[in-house]
Amino acid sequence: MPEGDTIFRAARTLHRVLARKVVTRFESVFPAINRIAEDHPIVGRTIESVTSRGKHMLMNFSGDLLLHTHMRMNGSWHIYPAGARWQRPAREMRVLVGTADAVAVGFNVPIADLLTPQQLARHEELRALGPDLLADAGGVDGRSTRTFDRDEVMRRMRAHDRDAIGDVLLNQRTIAGIGNVLKSEILFIAGLDPFVPVRGLTDADLRRVIDAAREQLAANVMEPSQTLHRSIGRRTTRSMDPNATLWVYSRGGKPCRRCGTRIQSRKTGVDARLTYWCPRCQPPPSSLSPAR
Ligand SMILES: [Zn+2]
Repeated sequence: MPEGDTIFRAARTLHRVLARKVVTRFESVFPAINRIAEDHPIVGRTIESVTSRGKHMLMNFSGDLLLHTHMRMNGSWHIYPAGARWQRPAREMRVLVGTADAVAVGFNVPIADLLTPQQLARHEELRALGPDLLADAGGVDGRSTRTFDRDEVMRRMRAHDRDAIGDVLLNQRTIAGIGNVLKSEILFIAGLDPFVPVRGLTDADLRRVIDAAREQLAANVMEPSQTLHRSIGRRTTRSMDPNATLWVYSRGGKPCRRCGTRIQSRKTGVDARLTYWCPRCQPPPSSLSPAR
């Protein structure tokens, strides 16, 4: 599943290529979108900006209309020079925005709608989003009007005090932008057992895990010139070894990079996503035995 930093980077790339360009081609497989586009054509409008909010992407057109998409598990946006061959089959195209020199294609995007700014403001899922970890990461133009509110995240976490910290980190209504890979990595960095309920953690624990999350997401959206690591994808360890990019994620049964203990893994949640952790580096608080 794409995480907040992946969507952020995709939005930034789309913004660079599409902003201030006029739409010359618009297609979608969504009947609701096509009905709106028939009455309020997208072709001829200017793309004003492409931004992200948590894992939602917003493409803003002139004339107060915007395309909202969410990738869920399998969706992705690609951008190609006009006329270039796509890297995925055309049948996976769900929505397409073309300009004179480029085409942005949303493949397998499960959720897409055309909204007015008023509808966006009332959008239930977007309104309910917790503070965005990348809120002040610079935005697409290097400017941001939002700042990240750590106290608000802590308040929302405390409202789920019986839930395991690992589940709370994935709850986009508590904090927006964390997916399954970063969840395991952030908990390792913060030294927290993924299955401990929030009520078993101190404020200092919560601050540590939130700060680790912000640091990791920010590191993953840095400009290529600011980091040597872009070409080899996500990494959290700061190791220069390209084979040592993650601390625990997908490393079940392998020795912990810090202490050598075997990394554990377990399926959790409704969609049985795997959680990875080191039982020695991430011990449960002594007063609590986590519900495993
Ligand atoms: Zn360890």
